This record gives sequence, structure tokens and C-alpha cells, in this order.
Amino acid sequence: MGITRKEVLRIFGAGAGAAAAGRWGLTAGATPVTAAEAAGATVVTRDIAVIGGGATGTYAAIRLRDEGRSVAVIEQQDRLGGHTHTYTDPATGAHVDIGVVVWHDLPLVRDWFARFDVPLEKANFDIPGQESLAVDYRTGKPVTGWTPPDPSAGLAAYAEQLARYPYLEAGFDLPDPVPADLLLPFGEFVRKYNVDSAVNMIFNFGQGLGDLLRQPTLYVFKNFGLDILRNLQVGFLTTSRHDNSELYRKARAELGEDALLCSTVVAADRDAAGHANLLVRGPSGIRLIRARKLLMTIPPKLDNLRGFDVDRTERRLFGQFRNSGYYTGVLRGTGIPDNLSIDNIAQHTPYHLPPLPGVYSISPTGVPGLHNVKYGSPGSLPAHHVKADILASIRRMRAAGTIDGSGRPEFAVFASHTPFELTVPTSAIAAGFYRELSALQGHNSTFWTGAAFHTHDSSLLWQFTESLLPRLTA
Ligand SMILES: Cc1cc2nc3c(=O)[nH]c(=O)nc-3n(C[C@H](O)[C@H](O)[C@H](O)COP(=O)(O)OP(=O)(O)OC[C@H]3O[C@@H](n4cnc5c(N)ncnc54)[C@H](O)[C@@H]3O)c2cc1C
Repeated sequence: MGITRKEVLRIFGAGAGAAAAGRWGLTAGATPVTAAEAAGATVVTRDIAVIGGGATGTYAAIRLRDEGRSVAVIEQQDRLGGHTHTYTDPATGAHVDIGVVVWHDLPLVRDWFARFDVPLEKANFDIPGQESLAVDYRTGKPVTGWTPPDPSAGLAAYAEQLARYPYLEAGFDLPDPVPADLLLPFGEFVRKYNVDSAVNMIFNFGQGLGDLLRQPTLYVFKNFGLDILRNLQVGFLTTSRHDNSELYRKARAELGEDALLCSTVVAADRDAAGHANLLVRGPSGIRLIRARKLLMTIPPKLDNLRGFDVDRTERRLFGQFRNSGYYTGVLRGTGIPDNLSIDNIAQHTPYHLPPLPGVYSISPTGVPGLHNVKYGSPGSLPAHHVKADILASIRRMRAAGTIDGSGRPEFAVFASHTPFELTVPTSAIAAGFYRELSALQGHNSTFWTGAAFHTHDSSLLWQFTESLLPRLTA
């Protein structure tokens, strides 16, 4: 159904006809909607518009449809899955997951994968004959005599403290006042409770957290929580076919035209009843999506909310978010043996943690000639900078004679998972930031899920999203 230009003007305001970006909440980078496009917009009416089609957006959309609600998912990429990203090697057809790899062994997780007939198994990524080498990536030289500490004592001390905050498993529902230990820089917490021997393990597990020792302990607890500790014992789950994107391809097929890929919201407004009107630009032009409720799953950084009608409270809260950077890829032509993992272990730093920005590790994929690479940064970096730094690290290892010098290293695939971990300063946490953030649920008929509202953990996020469904379907 087409709508008249007049109707679009009525919904979005008088400046729209002239494609007046400012009036529409459009900012630099967004392509203005022309009057002709607006007049030809297709109107789509749905119960709930889901913004973002990653782990939580896909889960919510399918579950809402299962509950008999109509949905539209607006996803900027050409696929669903977000941080779940699978590279398929054209030579062998083998899959390499360069994003999400494992999930908790929970009934909800098993049901979710069973719904799409995607078999799961206990995760074990060991490559036959795998070896590891500790290298200081700043020099390219091996770090001799370093072995990872036995984390048992540190983990026990950590777990004892973590158990004091069981509410962290469900969200950011923090008491008032916020317990002082949650505000400590993690490095101080480690010293206070003798967690030292577990630092390397937590650093590796918590990749993407940025500068671990300076992060408020709250964020470490959120990312390395009680159910993670349980799963370290019982075993995490992964897909038996080692193709974690399969579920998202199947979800995409099921959603059909309800999944609007390569699409972004360019303007938003509410009517008197609080229903949302979204102008969405996609491959087939402009659509006007009218939805009773919105479910936001995207990283709520202000620059990522262009086009949305962000109000003063939201602007004040989201404007405080900082983020880390996390980058992954698959390398070929490195000269690194297929069974060798090279971990970045720094000389002369606390706990031998590598300074970031820097490579976490280069590790085997199980596919001959291909290695995974993982890279972290305390803030966002341009992709070309990260790629250049990774290749420079390989050159340093070659120059030092640590690895074979032949072959031309290159990226088979590279992905920026940035902005990653969204955090606010300790003072904001103490002042009740997360109470205010939680209070946004339902405000303006808008609900929020995704990593910034809980944690970077798909399983726990699906649980969190599930808990929002009664309010979304009401
Ligand atoms: C390398 C890596 C490994 C990880 N490994 C694991 C793991 O093994 N297990 C685990 O549980 N978790 C893992 N995580 C954490 C993972 O981030 C979360 O589990 C989960 O993906 C977060 O879900 P989400 O819906 O919040 O975000 P995402 O899955 O990132 O989904 C957000 C979606 O919104 C889209 N989007 C963003 N902005 C806009 C916009 N303006 N308009 C439209 N669409 C937009 C994005 O394209 C994306 O598809 C990993 C993360 C990374 C980066």
C-alpha cells in the first residue's frame, strides 16, 4: 500500500517534504528521504518492530511470532546473527566460526536450537597435536619459561565473592547503594581477594572487555558470572555441524519478508496512542512501519540511534556509554604451523597481560592453512588500522625467527565486532545509572534487550529477552 506524501508529512512533520534531515532526526551519514520516496513508501503494520537481528533480535522475533504476534525485524546487515559469524572456506567448504562459539547448557538453549533442528554437542575445540607458544607480540620473540598459572585457587576465591551477587545473573538490577566491591577496578579486587592466579584465564575468557584490570569489577562479574563457572565444569554447548550461523539462516527463512535486511531506520515518530512510526530505508526503497511496540536490541550508542526519536532521558543515559573494540578474522599464508596457537604473553606487565590495542592470539581453525586471529582494544579503531597491526605482528615474529618467513599473510575474512562491551564510568554506576537504564523498559512503548542491557552472552540474553515477552505481548 502506498501512502501519500501528505500523510508522511503529517506523521513526521512539515520539514520532511524538502528532505530536511534535521527535522527528521537524521544526522550526518544518513541519506535523506526524498519527497518522491516518501510518497511511494509501502506501509507495513506490525504488533512489534524489532530493531537489530542479532542473537536477541532473532530470538525475540521468532518467539513473538510463536506467541501469535506480528513482527518486523530491521537489520542493517545482509544476514541475521550479529556477532554470530561463520566463514566458509571456498576450497574445502569447511566452516570457521569467527564470532560466537559456545552456549550454556540450559534447557532454553537446547529448546531454541531444537526448534530449528540444529544439533548441539559439548564443545571441544582441541586440534589433534595442538601446541601453544607464548610470544610477546611487541617484539615477536617467544617468552621463555612462562606457563599459564594453575587458576584453581584464584577461581575459588573469585567464585566465593561472585556468589554474593546472584542478581547479576538476571540483569543489571543493582541494589542502592551499589556494593563497593563492584565499583573497584578489577586489578584492586584481584589483589584484595587473592584472585591473582585466575587473571589470565579470566582475561582470555573475557576477550573484548578492553583493559581488564581497570574495568569496574561489576563488568567482569557480568561477563564471567556464576553460570559461566558452572558451564566450565559441565561443559559448554556448540553446534555439531560447526556452523553456528545455521540457526540464523533458518530463522531468516522462517521470518521471510518480516526480516528486513540491509535496512535502517531513517526517521521515527510516535502517534497519540504511543505507537511507533518508523521510516525504514532498505533495498526495495522506503517503508513506513507502524508498530504498537518497539524492541530495541542494537548497541544504544547515540551515533547508532540516528533516525530514532531519542528523548532527553535516553540521550542523557546513552551519551554516557563508552565501548571497547573487538575484532576477529581468519588469516592465510602466515607460515604458522596448522597445529600451533600463538598467545600474546607480554614481558614485564602485570600478570603478563598484553597491552591493548593488540592481538589476543592467533590459533588453529582445524582447516589447513587457516588461522583464527582475535584482537582487542579499549576503544574503537578503524578496521584498516587493526588489520595493519595484525600483519605487522606477524612480520615481527618472522623477523625474530619465531615463525617461518615465507608466504604472504592475508585475511581470508575480517570482522569488526565494534562497538563491543558498553560501559559507563564508576561514578555513573554508583549514581544509579543502571536503575535509570532499567526504568526505560516500556517507556514510550519501547523495550530494550541486547548486550548493553545485560551481558555479552547469548544464552543469558535469550533468558533476559524471554522475560520481556509477557510485557511485549500484553
Ligand atoms: C568474537 C566474539 C565471540 C563471542 N563469543 C561468544 C560465545 O561464544 N558465546 C556467547 O554467548 N556470546 C559470545 N559473544 C558475545 C555475543 O556478543 C553475544 O552473545 C550476542 O551476540 C549479543 O547479542 P545482541 O543481540 O546484543 O547483539 P548482536 O548479536 O551483535 O546483534 C545486534 C544486531 O543489530 C544490528 N544493528 C546494529 N546497529 C543497527 C542499526 N542502527 N540498525 C539496524 N541494525 C543494527 C547488528 O548488525 C546486529 O546484527 C561473542 C562476541 C564476539 C564479538
